[in-house]
Amino acid sequence: MASRDRTQVGIIGAGPAGLLLARLLEVHGVDSVILEARTRDYVEARIRAGVLEQGTVDLLEEAGVAERLHREGLVHDGVEIAANGRRLRIDFRELTGKTVTVYGQTEVTRDLIAARLAGGGPIVFEADDVAIHDIETDRPRLSYRVAGEDRSLVCDFVAGCDGFHGIGRPSLPASLRRTVDRTYPFGWLGILADVPPCSDELIYASHPRGFALASMRSPTRSRYYVQCGLDDKIEAWPDARIWDELRLRLGSEPAPDITTGPSIEKSIAPLRSFVSTPMQHGRLFLAGDAAHIVPPTGAKGLNLAASDVHYLCRALLAHYAKGNDDKLRAYSDTALARVWKAERFSWWMTTLLHRLHPEGSFEAQMQRAELDYLASSRAAQTALAENYVGLPF
Ligand SMILES: Cc1cc2nc3c(=O)[nH]c(=O)nc-3n(C[C@H](O)[C@H](O)[C@H](O)COP(=O)(O)OP(=O)(O)OC[C@H]3O[C@@H](n4cnc5c(N)ncnc54)[C@H](O)[C@@H]3O)c2cc1C
Repeated sequence: MASRDRTQVGIIGAGPAGLLLARLLEVHGVDSVILEARTRDYVEARIRAGVLEQGTVDLLEEAGVAERLHREGLVHDGVEIAANGRRLRIDFRELTGKTVTVYGQTEVTRDLIAARLAGGGPIVFEADDVAIHDIETDRPRLSYRVAGEDRSLVCDFVAGCDGFHGIGRPSLPASLRRTVDRTYPFGWLGILADVPPCSDELIYASHPRGFALASMRSPTRSRYYVQCGLDDKIEAWPDARIWDELRLRLGSEPAPDITTGPSIEKSIAPLRSFVSTPMQHGRLFLAGDAAHIVPPTGAKGLNLAASDVHYLCRALLAHYAKGNDDKLRAYSDTALARVWKAERFSWWMTTLLHRLHPEGSFEAQMQRAELDYLASSRAAQTALAENYVGLPF
């Protein structure tokens, strides 16, 4: 593909945020170029999130990439919470009229890349040393190197969709940036296996041995997690130990029937809550993990990236179609209003379900009381359901 030196929106990062933004802009006639540090194979193979809110599905429809999602995605009407020896079903459809769709982030990414390339939209993979210049002018510029050649891309706007470790966030002036951060004293050990899931719906388990989650990617591929120590090494967790631990932690009434098999992926991830404000300065706008991180307990990371992109796309379209910059000016505040609520929910789900405090402590007793309240109150179940299926955009 010939190199480009001018575009309307320069996008850094071909994760879900960058790819979805590019595709939505393209559908609405706005030009963009994506610069991605990694190879296409690497980006398409990354195993991460799997639960899509209805609002995210709607955006993927608008982007014209929902055909396979509707064919292969699993619509879930609820989840189960296993705690104190019993299982409680939270019925999303009954409580909120909404559902979620289980469809892997890898599949979302593949669909978006395929649509982008089929439409002729450029993605520059293996772009090294990407740097952002002149964001306080109306002609910001991206410099980068690809295959040893230095290049430059002049833009109207820059979207930093380059995740937590990207260069977008540090390119905002340090004097303006404020961050809040919480790291949790445990991690999640995840295992992916080509075995049928143990349940039709996700099971979140709070057990004296620690949290566990039974999830899935398809009717033949399961994704399980167990709470583990931050210093745990993957070598200390052979597959057999993980399956044994899952049986114990998920073993409430009725106990799920777990089919075991060799892992095809296994990893340990730390859990953190993180928000950096503001999400814009001059002509640089951040979206997704570049600006905020949630612990995965509430399944919000990918969905928050999608809602940021929704707000940013609407703001850019108002600029190009009507010359109106009100939404661009308000972007950070608009996006953050939803981000903070998702942060709250993810923190709440995490502290509700994980083992954080010694048995018998005040905090452990509060956790038990909260779970009892959830089991007995339709209002509490509705609050969980409303947040899990996604607050309105
Ligand atoms: C291990 C792991 C497991 C997760 N599990 C879950 C889960 O179960 N549920 C859930 O909801 N969420 C989960 N998440 C979170 C979810 O995957 C993210 O919220 C989501 O990927 C955010 O999308 P994004 O596009 O903002 O960022 P990313 O997906 O991080 O994409 C950023 C892209 O930018 C590229 N990039 C970075 N720096 C540069 C640079 N300097 N130049 C050019 N390109 C660059 C990266 O290569 C990447 O492709 C998980 C995250 C991780 C890391």
